[in-house]
Amino acid sequence: MNRIATLLQQRLLGWYDRQRRDLPWRTTTDPYRLWVAETLCQQTQAARAAAYYTRFLERFPTVAVLAVADLTEVLKLWEGLGYYQRARRLHEAARLVCRQHGGILPRTAAAWRLLPGVGHYTAAAVASMAFGEPVAAVDGNVRRVLARLAAADIGDSLPRQMTVVRAMAQALVAGTRPGDVNQALMELGATVCRPRRPRCADCPLAAACTARQDAVIDRYPLRSPRKLRPVRPFVCLLVQCGDRRLVVRRTTTTLLSDLWEFPTDARRDGEDDRAAAERHLGELGLTAQHVQPGPALTHDFTHFRQQLQSFWVEVATPNDLIDVDALWTTPDRLEALPLTKVTRRFWHLWSEREAALGRLTAERSRSFAPEFRPASSGGGQ
Ligand code: SF4
Repeated sequence: MNRIATLLQQRLLGWYDRQRRDLPWRTTTDPYRLWVAETLCQQTQAARAAAYYTRFLERFPTVAVLAVADLTEVLKLWEGLGYYQRARRLHEAARLVCRQHGGILPRTAAAWRLLPGVGHYTAAAVASMAFGEPVAAVDGNVRRVLARLAAADIGDSLPRQMTVVRAMAQALVAGTRPGDVNQALMELGATVCRPRRPRCADCPLAAACTARQDAVIDRYPLRSPRKLRPVRPFVCLLVQCGDRRLVVRRTTTTLLSDLWEFPTDARRDGEDDRAAAERHLGELGLTAQHVQPGPALTHDFTHFRQQLQSFWVEVATPNDLIDVDALWTTPDRLEALPLTKVTRRFWHLWSEREAALGRLTAERSRSFAPEFRPASSGGGQ
């Protein structure tokens, strides 16, 4: 390792030993626990992932327990975090480890990468933290820190940024504590070298940071030009039959597969929202007594924005549905299902509406209640 890398590493580790947050996976070198933690932390802030980590490991303490679990239960524990494909792949990989490797987890980053859902970053993070392999784990936080440090060298070149950042990260993990170096860089990016308003005065690497010296921090890391996210209109049917609500299971070939949702469909060319809602009711084989517009929501996926118009629908009979896995369920049971995020948001609005209607009914019945009049105005008992 060259002299500058050694100096940076010492400062980084010194800072990490003093300042790191108390996160539940920081006290373990168990590869299963670290794998779960790193999977949870993808696309999710560490503080938020921490609560899920504890609950997940209470229910699935080992890879063997996870491997025999029902996917629905795994998805339920993941609910609210989004990016459900992570949970599905984790479950699938646990099964593969138990089926093909006797439940023994890999020891090297290269072997980790053979598991479903495990990319360069997760493989390097787990192998370095659990087994001390000197491999760099470069996530968005690490890229930001290193790109700012090396801004003068990177200039305006995106390919050069990738090469420089990788080489720096790899140089820094040489030595006895590769897992801690990886964690320290992630921690620095998450807490000090933040995307906006970095806390440079608290940064252990400030003396070496060329973006700071040249006052160009906001330019780094360089990004590829953003594509505009297309907006796609959908209708969502909030169907009720007495105390039952209708939910359907998404098929295994779609986005968010195996999660439950209120019946939802894309609006087709030439349709307005109501026409799309009525068409979808017909496709499901439902005859509605009342259909009226409900709340609208938008939900962002990575590659498109979903614009949803809901409809309150009342039906007289909870009949079988055509071509879908459907459930007429009570509110309590609905709460226990793994739901899509949009369905949970609509359910929240639905519950609020019902509470408001309940209050209104109670107020009305109070205002129409006969006044109490004493049987005789002057008599005592
Ligand atoms: S000095 Fe500021 S911009 Fe540079 S690495 Fe540290 S926190 Fe980031």
